[in-house]
Amino acid sequence: MTKPLGFDTLQVHAGSSPDPATGARQVPIYQTTAYVFRDADHAAALFNLQEVGYIYSRLTNPTVSALADRIAALEGGAGAICCSSGHAAQIMALFPLMSPGCNVVASTRLYGGTIQQFTNTIRKFGWSAKFVDFDDPDAIAAAIDDNTRAVFCETIANPGGYVTDLPAIAKVADAAGLPLIVDNTSATPYLCRPIEHGATLVVHSTTKYLTGNGTVTGGAVVDSGKFDWSASGKFPSLSEPEPAYHGLTFHAALGAMAFTFHSIAVGLRDLGMTMNPQGAHYTLMGIETLSLRMQRHVENAVKVAKWLEADSRVDFVTYPGLESSPYFDRAKKICPKGAGALFTFAVKGGYDACVKLVDNVKLFSHVANLGDTRSLIIHSASTTHRQLNEEQQVAAGAAPNVVRLSIGIEDAEDLIADLDQALAAATA
Ligand SMILES: *Cc1c(COP(=O)(O)O)cnc(C)c1O
Repeated sequence: MTKPLGFDTLQVHAGSSPDPATGARQVPIYQTTAYVFRDADHAAALFNLQEVGYIYSRLTNPTVSALADRIAALEGGAGAICCSSGHAAQIMALFPLMSPGCNVVASTRLYGGTIQQFTNTIRKFGWSAKFVDFDDPDAIAAAIDDNTRAVFCETIANPGGYVTDLPAIAKVADAAGLPLIVDNTSATPYLCRPIEHGATLVVHSTTKYLTGNGTVTGGAVVDSGKFDWSASGKFPSLSEPEPAYHGLTFHAALGAMAFTFHSIAVGLRDLGMTMNPQGAHYTLMGIETLSLRMQRHVENAVKVAKWLEADSRVDFVTYPGLESSPYFDRAKKICPKGAGALFTFAVKGGYDACVKLVDNVKLFSHVANLGDTRSLIIHSASTTHRQLNEEQQVAAGAAPNVVRLSIGIEDAEDLIADLDQALAAATA
């Protein structure tokens, strides 16, 4: 093979070949918990990671592995694991890096659930997060201390129409010898491949665009394979004999696949946040059309955002694909194929008008989800970002007067007509 395969080819073919047992062309759903060992030596080799194969579906399953390999290929990573949700993926990404007393330096502009997970829940593991404005690289550098083990941000931040300057952030992480973890859910590898901008790990909620049709929750962690886990002594789970896996030194033994194998052999084995083969099947079906859907998502988002911006009932629109956005130039650099399909707009009339708006849409669905083929709407301040205080809501781009849209792949004219009638009702 001389020329690497293109994205559209990889989204259909990567990670799968005709089933060796039956010739089945589509990836079969391997609905099995366990796999018969050839003999005792084979079993021992599998458990020693001397031979790669299937043992038990909490660790690996052929349908799930096909999806993991496909996502790794689309992101340009060395390896990937799939897990039960996007939130599971975030824990799985941090797990090999952190120990009690360690922290992650994270952007203030994150999915509301992630702010919650990082503010409160990870404290139960003895981990913590420091939230910083990622438009200020000096502030990130200042927040990093001896106990920092990762830097975390989203490519296109949910919900506020914000695009992160990934190369600038990667530079700060590199200078500190830390891995940069990028949640690429809202951009997808079609619009942005964070590893090409310096990310070490890419996490996904496959629940969203990768599956694309709002059927199953899932997550993935992709490793670039490029980080030197042994350089600083800060990542003993990977660079030193791992007591949780009979003293195997993952980085020395497995090189670029160290993170991925640790995530399977220790992370999935002991935390059990496994994706099931049915779920992987739905996501494999969706991912085949990722580029086609993203093109339409972006095209529609531009049309709807422009229409809203010109409407007198709207105060502002945060879509980074609009020239009025402070992130327009950055979006062109980081996401040259389009600035995604997720943005907020402010309704004249504030909180009450926003609530009326979501109660009056007919084609848009009022749901706590994004990245569906269907167009979705939500008032973040009264739902997903409800548990944050107002200062955190504003910092996260979810102020009380804004509504978030996830633009689907329907006819843009129909979406505009629906928003038109709902705005009329909301501002009457
Ligand atoms: C939805 C989402 C998550 C969480 O994913 P789940 O699959 O719901 O657990 C994390 N980050 C972003 C950007 C998301 O949109």
